Amino acid sequence: MPVTDDLRSLRGHCTCKAISYTLLNTPLIVHCCHCTYCQRETGSAFVLNMQIETSAVAQIATKEATEPTLVETPSASGTPQLIARCPKCWVALYSHYGGNMASAFVRVGTLDDESRHRVKPNVHIFTSTKAEWVDLKSEVERGAKVFDEFYEREKIWSKSALARREKMLKSMVVESDKDEEEEDE
Ligand SMILES: [Zn+2]
Ligand SMILES: [Zn+2]
Repeated sequence: MPVTDDLRSLRGHCTCKAISYTLLNTPLIVHCCHCTYCQRETGSAFVLNMQIETSAVAQIATKEATEPTLVETPSASGTPQLIARCPKCWVALYSHYGGNMASAFVRVGTLDDESRHRVKPNVHIFTSTKAEWVDLKSEVERGAKVFDEFYEREKIWSKSALARREKMLKSMVVESDKDEEEEDE
């Protein structure tokens, strides 16, 4: 299932607009994560994350533009999740998991109005902890995949996304004791 057929760039920003970005490529995959970490971090029932190469997240230069602050946040894997937040309004724009700085999980909710409606989740993960009132029947009918925990990437991602991931892994600085699986969320 392609992430999107629409090739117009996705754009987004934090609430105060000190940080605006555009994505230079289509997302590799869009996750809807129902894990308890994401629930707590968003104050909601789930989070929507677009995974993409960090190099494809381009900050738009404006007069008041500022660099995001990377905030260390505990994660299930034990390796802190680094959440990129605006240093003025502290909205989370994206994060890196498992020490993999080459890969970014961009928060779909930070997209602008024009972009946001073009992005839908490909997979629902960690649904073993989803809120009871979240009914995914219509999502299954739409073709989204639903998993209790995580999934086998080779079975779900498009060929082109898998090829881009190979390239991305080659570019990343590997922490010797970290398994690549820890990038999941
Ligand atoms: Zn801001
Ligand atoms: Zn999660």
